[in-house]
Amino acid sequence: MTHMEWIENKSLLRHNTFGMDVYARWFTEVQSEDALRNTLARAGDIKSPLFILGGGSNILFTKNVDGLVLLNAIPGMDVVQEDEQYVWVKAGAGVRWHQLVEYCIEHGYAGIENLALIPGNTGAAPMQNIGAYGVEIKNVFHCLTAMDVQDQLMHTMYADDCAFGYRESRFKREWKNKYVITSVTLKLNKKPDYNISYGAIARELENMGVKDLSIRAVADAVIKIRMGKLPDPAVIGNAGSFFKNPEVSADTFHALQEKHQDIVGYILETGRVKLAAGWLIEHCGPAEGVSWKGYRKGDAGCHALQALVLVNHAHASGADIFELSNRIIESVQQTFGVALEREVNVY
Ligand SMILES: Cc1cc2nc3c(=O)[nH]c(=O)nc-3n(C[C@H](O)[C@H](O)[C@H](O)COP(=O)(O)OP(=O)(O)OC[C@H]3O[C@@H](n4cnc5c(N)ncnc54)[C@H](O)[C@@H]3O)c2cc1C
Repeated sequence: MTHMEWIENKSLLRHNTFGMDVYARWFTEVQSEDALRNTLARAGDIKSPLFILGGGSNILFTKNVDGLVLLNAIPGMDVVQEDEQYVWVKAGAGVRWHQLVEYCIEHGYAGIENLALIPGNTGAAPMQNIGAYGVEIKNVFHCLTAMDVQDQLMHTMYADDCAFGYRESRFKREWKNKYVITSVTLKLNKKPDYNISYGAIARELENMGVKDLSIRAVADAVIKIRMGKLPDPAVIGNAGSFFKNPEVSADTFHALQEKHQDIVGYILETGRVKLAAGWLIEHCGPAEGVSWKGYRKGDAGCHALQALVLVNHAHASGADIFELSNRIIESVQQTFGVALEREVNVY
């Protein structure tokens, strides 16, 4: 049996957008199902712990990985089925998500244009049911294929199997490290059903002077908004939103509103209210009258334009960022009585 090369003691600095200089005991890249099968079997034989890595844009490493880091680089984008209205596009787990978005826009396949420019790879997208600007991958998800780490058998999972929720799926919970996702198939629309309900998109389209709506125009508007708002990991280390927007009951929301008139919340179909975590973080801080927004201790900080994003200014450690996240969680709990949850995976 041939094996892809296993590199010993490899720095993961270039493989995580927080820019943590941690090391993998072993590191390998797989580009096919066969290579994945061999690699998993070998890791099982030597009882090596495993860490599955995509683009590293949703992970905070707080320590070295004393095991095998498996970079899933399985390529390929194909139309696997088609009818009058829909097209089923299958992409390998290693395809960059934004590359898939661009491919779909070029071919006129609608449904993921609002998810333009989300970093990372397609294989990780179902992990936390990626979402932005009113759309989540679950809206267009058809199925995925995944290999069982233990016995290397392939499985196909549909939306119901994945239990998608807000930045959630079974893969982030009980199936963590149980399966390696190898491909994702999306069911896209040939006739666009635009979702521009987010005020920011409508405003940006107007600024751009767009008269005839198209999926290209929507994606361009999203790209513009994101570039203006989110820090570029190539410039300053981060993993996007560090926390999830917490949900509270309508009663709790009204009680909070009495004390904080301008608190930001969206009423959900269930009647519960999703609070803007960024607002909560901005409106409390490390000391009386000081906001977390723009706060910095050493090289660990809270972004000055987007309080939801924690940043590594240069040489913060994973532990520094983690500690800051704990202080923010505690501060939001004390000030508002609301529990914040991390969105980013912590290792
Ligand atoms: C600037 C910035 C903006 C962002 N904006 C958004 C946004 O708008 N919406 C959003 O939802 N997210 C956003 N994110 C988060 C991130 O881009 C997504 O979560 C993305 O899907 C992560 O993909 P990845 O390949 O980088 O995953 P990684 O960080 O490599 O991995 C994430 C988790 O998935 C697991 N995993 C990875 N690949 C596989 C696989 N093939 N099989 C099984 N498990 C796997 C890993 O073990 C890890 O636990 C943002 C991040 C950044 C840095």
